[in-house]
Amino acid sequence: MANVADTKLYDILGVPPGASENELKKAYRKLAKEYHPDKNPNAGDKFKEISFAYEVLSNPEKRELYDRYGEQGLREGSGGGGGMDDIFSHIFGGGLFGFMGNQSRSRNGRRRGEDMMHPLKVSLEDLYNGKTTKLQLSKNVLCSACNGQGGKSGAVQKCSACRGRGVRIMIRQLAPGMVQQMQSVCSDCNGEGEVINEKDRCKKCEGKKVIKEVKILEVHVDKGMKHGQRITFTGEADQAPGVEPGDIVLLLQEKEHEVFQRDGNDLHMTYKIGLVEALCGFQFTFKHLDARQIMVKYPPGKVIEPGCVRVVRGEGMPQYRNPFEKGDLYIKFDVQFPENNWINPEKLSELEDLLPSRPEVPNVIGDPEEVELQEFDSTRGSGGGQRREAYNDSSDEESSSHHGPGVQCAHQ
Ligand SMILES: [Zn+2]
Ligand SMILES: [Zn+2]
Repeated sequence: MANVADTKLYDILGVPPGASENELKKAYRKLAKEYHPDKNPNAGDKFKEISFAYEVLSNPEKRELYDRYGEQGLREGSGGGGGMDDIFSHIFGGGLFGFMGNQSRSRNGRRRGEDMMHPLKVSLEDLYNGKTTKLQLSKNVLCSACNGQGGKSGAVQKCSACRGRGVRIMIRQLAPGMVQQMQSVCSDCNGEGEVINEKDRCKKCEGKKVIKEVKILEVHVDKGMKHGQRITFTGEADQAPGVEPGDIVLLLQEKEHEVFQRDGNDLHMTYKIGLVEALCGFQFTFKHLDARQIMVKYPPGKVIEPGCVRVVRGEGMPQYRNPFEKGDLYIKFDVQFPENNWINPEKLSELEDLLPSRPEVPNVIGDPEEVELQEFDSTRGSGGGQRREAYNDSSDEESSSHHGPGVQCAHQ
């Protein structure tokens, strides 16, 4: 059972941490051949990673540093030579270390804590008018009684069993040349990486170095902000000793509105009118997102066709950071036609006299076949089309059973 601080570089070469020089060389040659940029130009930085891993592990001094102290040992041992930082951050920073949680390194090399993401539901009204809201959350802060030490100075000792890492890497040989790697929490320190003498333990935080604190954040939702936009509170996430706190990130979630749908800075709404309004003009009022009453007028003589869209310029959403500029409001008209037999036949002919006249019917030649026009549910239209296609091959029986009378949707 080997006990190493970190196995990332071994993983890159696909060898176990205990691998011999020969095994390393073999693995390197094979991979270098495979991923050489001349042969495999799409492999990206893979070749660089392989070369770096081999460079470290084939050097006994560097390998020793890496085995004992992991990445940090290498960083400190390397003296930060030119170009080294790049490959370090490439291999260790974020990407390949993703499984270690969302931790990344800040510019000054301190470990950076995880960002905390919270969804924040906001109404369309809030996004139109802007809103300041208070958000209460509980987070870890460094204990003030022990300055985040966990106890009196000197009371905290690095755990010797895991070299302060809190985890131990176990290598189990399953068969010759076949090993299984397991990471387990260090039992000596319960994963803390250090041990504290009971009597020197800080009373306030019980040696945890951090305490829970309720924090109230004032959140400004600005006019024109959008669904999915982030509001970041830098460094407000959980504190931990030696770690630069991550950010609290609020992710805006726009709630559905019963009147308006948003499309960028534009708003869309649907308005129902009757036939008389469609033909003879109308006016109506609605309440806008800032509670203003808006009156829409359309003069007699102008016609609204069913389903048509008209626009009101400048009544959309305010632009983010430029709220006096606004998008447009699009109104789609749903024209409600009267019911069957809504008027008696005499009145109907009076109405016909008022409406634009019918086109002249051309003279019928011969003896036409009269057909019946039936009610039809347009949602079944596509089904009919499919069925017609299906008639072209031999599977129509099966196909039509799928579109039986059960398939019917309410259509307005
Ligand atoms: Zn404390
Ligand atoms: Zn330990």
